[in-house]
Amino acid sequence: EVTGSTIPSQDGSKGKWALFVLHDITRQKRLELVRKEFVANVSHELRTPLSVIKGYVETLVDGHHDMELSDRSRFLATIQRHTERLNSLLEDLLTLSRLESINPGLQRESTSLRSLVGSIVDDYRSRPAAQNHVIDSEIDPAIEPLLIDPLKLTQVFENLLDNALKYTPPGSTITIAARRRTEEVEIRVKDTGPGIPQADLPHIFERFYRVEKGRSREKGGTGLGLSIVKHIIQLHGGRVRAESQLNEGMTFVLTIPSSKTSN
Ligand code: ADP
Repeated sequence: EVTGSTIPSQDGSKGKWALFVLHDITRQKRLELVRKEFVANVSHELRTPLSVIKGYVETLVDGHHDMELSDRSRFLATIQRHTERLNSLLEDLLTLSRLESINPGLQRESTSLRSLVGSIVDDYRSRPAAQNHVIDSEIDPAIEPLLIDPLKLTQVFENLLDNALKYTPPGSTITIAARRRTEEVEIRVKDTGPGIPQADLPHIFERFYRVEKGRSREKGGTGLGLSIVKHIIQLHGGRVRAESQLNEGMTFVLTIPSSKTSN
């Protein structure tokens, strides 16, 4: 189709040039579409918490002076929850835009995966939100130090652990396991929760994609956590995929090049 619309010319190079322009326009159009969809999604995500906050503040300001103190507190708690939601959304949007910028600020240093995961797991085990879950780590001690950005990798594990805690019932086990493979390290973050249907798997790394919209929002999810994970792993020259069957738990498989091969 594109070749058919190439501007005819006696000179081969001009023909190629015209072809390039057409390709570029198609790409521009696609990018424009993605950008429009993104703006529409962000606006939609902002609208709900803002209108809730607006409504509750108006009710409080319009002074139903006979309002019970308990109702007042309930209203304020709702306003607080939605303000926090706006805040998380903004934080995640800023993180994503930094990761997508020309200089995403990757600060690689030689890092022991075992110590990094060990300290993250210790931190999570002491959190109130994780008291009803079992968190295990099985990191092969033979894995050599990796040339990674420890703060960004910490964010990856935090996003995956937060999800595992959010979407699995009490009593579930979350395991972070890592083993050496040829020229790369494979890390698996696995939970024993409900998992997701196969049909949703290809989409969950897309921005704002949620399997159960209501449930995710209610649990404070922005719909951006896995996009951030994907970006960080790709910046390290790695890959990420998810494996799941409904009611069979969820596994995220991260592959990171070992130091010698990473750039
Ligand atoms: P959210 O902020 O909604 O959690 P994410 O990008 O982190 O956004 O995740 C996208 C969706 O993937 C979630 O809304 C949820 O439906 C699904 N998901 C992610 N992790 C898990 C998990 N461990 N178990 C089941 N579903 C999950």
